Amino acid sequence: MPYNVRRSTGKRKGKFFKQRDKNNIDPFLQRVANSGALVFPSQFGERRLIEMEQLPFDMWCKNCDNAIGIRTLEHESFNGIVSKWHIRCETCSTIIVVDTSKKSNDKNFDTNLKLATGILDTGIGETKVNTLLSVVNSPTIHHSTLKRLERVVGPPIENVAQASCVYAIEKEKMMSIASYKSQE
Ligand SMILES: [Zn+2]
Repeated sequence: MPYNVRRSTGKRKGKFFKQRDKNNIDPFLQRVANSGALVFPSQFGERRLIEMEQLPFDMWCKNCDNAIGIRTLEHESFNGIVSKWHIRCETCSTIIVVDTSKKSNDKNFDTNLKLATGILDTGIGETKVNTLLSVVNSPTIHHSTLKRLERVVGPPIENVAQASCVYAIEKEKMMSIASYKSQE
Protein backbone atom coordinates (compact mmCIF):
# COMPACT_ATOMS: atom_id res chain seq x y z
CA MET A 1 0.00 0.00 0.00
CA PRO A 2 1.43 3.46 -0.87
CA TYR A 3 2.39 5.59 2.12
CA ASN A 4 -0.01 8.49 1.64
CA VAL A 5 -3.42 6.85 1.45
CA ARG A 6 -6.44 8.48 3.08
CA ARG A 7 -9.13 6.52 4.89
CA SER A 8 -12.30 6.09 2.82
CA THR A 9 -14.55 4.92 5.66
CA GLY A 10 -15.00 5.20 9.42
CA LYS A 11 -14.75 7.96 12.01
CA ARG A 12 -11.37 9.16 10.73
CA LYS A 13 -12.51 9.28 7.08
CA GLY A 14 -10.31 11.56 4.97
CA LYS A 15 -7.31 11.27 7.33
CA PHE A 16 -4.10 9.57 6.25
CA PHE A 17 -3.48 5.96 7.29
CA LYS A 18 -0.74 5.63 9.87
CA GLN A 19 2.13 3.26 9.15
CA ARG A 20 0.97 1.06 12.07
CA ASP A 21 -2.53 0.74 10.50
CA LYS A 22 -1.07 -0.13 7.12
CA ASN A 23 1.12 -2.82 8.64
CA ASN A 24 -2.06 -4.35 10.09
CA ILE A 25 -4.20 -3.94 6.97
CA ASP A 26 -1.83 -5.45 4.41
CA PRO A 27 -1.71 -8.96 5.99
CA PHE A 28 -5.46 -8.72 6.70
CA LEU A 29 -6.20 -8.03 3.02
CA GLN A 30 -3.91 -10.88 2.04
CA ARG A 31 -5.79 -13.27 4.36
CA VAL A 32 -9.16 -12.09 3.01
CA ALA A 33 -7.92 -12.49 -0.55
CA ASN A 34 -6.62 -16.00 0.19
CA SER A 35 -9.90 -17.04 1.82
CA GLY A 36 -11.80 -16.16 -1.38
CA ALA A 37 -14.25 -13.96 0.57
CA LEU A 38 -15.90 -10.93 -0.97
CA VAL A 39 -13.55 -7.96 -0.61
CA PHE A 40 -15.69 -5.38 -2.41
CA PRO A 41 -16.02 -2.51 -1.51
CA SER A 42 -12.39 -2.84 -0.54
CA GLN A 43 -9.99 -0.83 1.63
CA PHE A 44 -8.83 0.72 -1.63
CA GLY A 45 -11.92 2.89 -1.96
CA GLU A 46 -15.13 2.60 -3.84
CA ARG A 47 -14.35 4.32 -7.16
CA ARG A 48 -12.57 2.98 -10.20
CA LEU A 49 -11.53 4.44 -13.55
CA ILE A 50 -12.95 2.02 -16.10
CA GLU A 51 -12.72 1.71 -19.86
CA MET A 52 -16.23 2.17 -21.26
CA GLU A 53 -15.37 0.86 -24.73
CA GLN A 54 -13.91 -2.39 -23.45
CA LEU A 55 -15.51 -3.35 -20.12
CA PRO A 56 -19.09 -4.05 -21.34
CA PHE A 57 -17.69 -6.65 -23.77
CA ASP A 58 -15.48 -8.27 -21.11
CA MET A 59 -18.33 -8.67 -18.62
CA TRP A 60 -19.33 -11.91 -20.27
CA CYS A 61 -18.80 -15.57 -19.35
CA LYS A 62 -16.98 -17.31 -22.20
CA ASN A 63 -17.96 -20.69 -20.74
CA CYS A 64 -21.78 -20.46 -20.71
CA ASP A 65 -22.28 -17.30 -22.84
CA ASN A 66 -24.09 -15.31 -20.14
CA ALA A 67 -23.55 -11.84 -18.73
CA ILE A 68 -21.59 -11.55 -15.48
CA GLY A 69 -21.98 -8.83 -12.85
CA ILE A 70 -19.84 -7.05 -10.30
CA ARG A 71 -21.96 -8.29 -7.35
CA THR A 72 -20.29 -11.71 -7.59
CA LEU A 73 -16.78 -10.20 -7.44
CA GLU A 74 -14.62 -12.70 -5.52
CA HIS A 75 -11.29 -10.91 -5.49
CA GLU A 76 -9.72 -7.70 -6.73
CA SER A 77 -6.03 -7.11 -7.34
CA PHE A 78 -4.31 -4.01 -8.69
CA ASN A 79 -1.74 -2.96 -11.25
CA GLY A 80 -1.33 0.79 -10.69
CA ILE A 81 -4.88 2.15 -10.68
CA VAL A 82 -6.10 -0.69 -12.95
CA SER A 83 -8.13 -3.42 -11.26
CA LYS A 84 -8.07 -7.10 -12.08
CA TRP A 85 -11.49 -8.45 -11.10
CA HIS A 86 -12.06 -12.13 -10.45
CA ILE A 87 -15.82 -12.50 -10.98
CA ARG A 88 -17.78 -15.71 -10.42
CA CYS A 89 -20.35 -16.47 -13.12
CA GLU A 90 -23.76 -16.85 -11.42
CA THR A 91 -24.83 -19.47 -13.97
CA CYS A 92 -21.87 -21.86 -14.21
CA SER A 93 -19.62 -20.70 -11.29
CA THR A 94 -16.61 -20.22 -13.57
CA ILE A 95 -14.22 -17.48 -12.40
CA ILE A 96 -13.81 -14.85 -15.13
CA VAL A 97 -10.87 -12.44 -14.91
CA VAL A 98 -11.65 -8.92 -16.15
CA ASP A 99 -9.20 -5.99 -16.40
CA THR A 100 -10.59 -2.46 -16.08
CA SER A 101 -8.23 -1.19 -18.80
CA LYS A 102 -7.05 -2.37 -22.19
CA LYS A 103 -3.41 -2.91 -23.10
CA SER A 104 -2.10 -1.38 -26.32
CA ASN A 105 1.22 -3.12 -25.83
CA ASP A 106 2.02 -6.32 -23.92
CA LYS A 107 3.50 -4.66 -20.86
CA ASN A 108 1.43 -1.71 -19.65
CA PHE A 109 -2.22 -0.87 -19.22
CA ASP A 110 -3.40 2.21 -21.15
CA THR A 111 -5.03 3.77 -18.07
CA ASN A 112 -1.75 3.64 -16.13
CA LEU A 113 0.17 5.12 -19.09
CA LYS A 114 -2.42 7.90 -19.42
CA LEU A 115 -2.09 8.65 -15.71
CA ALA A 116 1.72 8.84 -15.98
CA THR A 117 1.39 11.13 -19.04
CA GLY A 118 -1.09 13.32 -17.15
CA ILE A 119 1.27 13.60 -14.19
CA LEU A 120 4.14 14.74 -16.45
CA ASP A 121 1.83 17.06 -18.38
CA THR A 122 0.38 18.80 -15.32
CA GLY A 123 3.69 18.91 -13.47
CA ILE A 124 2.22 17.50 -10.26
CA GLY A 125 4.15 14.85 -8.38
CA GLU A 126 3.32 11.39 -7.07
CA THR A 127 2.29 12.73 -3.65
CA LYS A 128 -0.28 15.13 -5.10
CA VAL A 129 -1.72 12.62 -7.54
CA ASN A 130 -2.12 10.03 -4.77
CA THR A 131 -3.73 12.60 -2.52
CA LEU A 132 -6.14 13.45 -5.33
CA LEU A 133 -6.90 9.77 -5.99
CA SER A 134 -7.48 8.99 -2.32
CA VAL A 135 -9.75 12.04 -1.88
CA VAL A 136 -12.03 10.67 -4.62
CA ASN A 137 -11.81 7.22 -2.94
CA SER A 138 -9.97 5.62 -5.81
CA PRO A 139 -7.03 3.19 -5.58
CA THR A 140 -3.68 4.98 -5.44
CA ILE A 141 -0.50 4.25 -7.40
CA HIS A 142 2.79 3.09 -5.90
CA HIS A 143 5.72 5.44 -6.52
CA SER A 144 7.89 2.66 -8.01
CA THR A 145 5.10 1.76 -10.50
CA LEU A 146 4.83 5.41 -11.42
CA LYS A 147 8.59 5.72 -11.96
CA ARG A 148 8.53 2.69 -14.27
CA LEU A 149 5.60 4.17 -16.27
CA GLU A 150 7.29 7.57 -16.50
CA ARG A 151 10.31 5.90 -18.09
CA VAL A 152 7.94 4.52 -20.78
CA VAL A 153 6.02 7.73 -21.55
CA GLY A 154 8.89 10.19 -20.90
CA PRO A 155 10.99 9.75 -24.10
CA PRO A 156 8.05 10.17 -26.59
CA ILE A 157 6.94 13.35 -24.72
CA GLU A 158 10.51 14.70 -24.85
CA ASN A 159 10.67 14.01 -28.60
CA VAL A 160 7.40 15.88 -29.24
CA ALA A 161 8.57 18.79 -27.04
CA GLN A 162 11.89 18.94 -28.88
CA ALA A 163 10.19 18.87 -32.32
CA SER A 164 7.83 21.61 -31.15
CA CYS A 165 10.78 23.77 -29.97
CA VAL A 166 12.57 23.34 -33.32
CA TYR A 167 9.37 24.30 -35.16
CA ALA A 168 8.91 27.40 -32.95
CA ILE A 169 12.52 28.52 -33.51
CA GLU A 170 12.19 28.04 -37.29
CA LYS A 171 8.93 30.00 -37.34
CA GLU A 172 10.43 32.84 -35.30
CA LYS A 173 13.39 32.99 -37.66
CA MET A 174 11.12 33.20 -40.74
CA MET A 175 9.01 35.92 -39.14
CA SER A 176 12.10 37.95 -38.20
CA ILE A 177 13.43 37.72 -41.78
CA ALA A 178 10.00 38.70 -43.19
CA SER A 179 9.75 41.63 -40.80
CA TYR A 180 13.30 42.77 -41.62
CA LYS A 181 12.62 42.57 -45.36
CA SER A 182 9.37 44.54 -45.04
CA GLN A 183 11.28 47.34 -43.29
CA GLU A 184 13.79 47.65 -46.14
ZN1 LIG B 1 -20.83 -19.01 -16.96
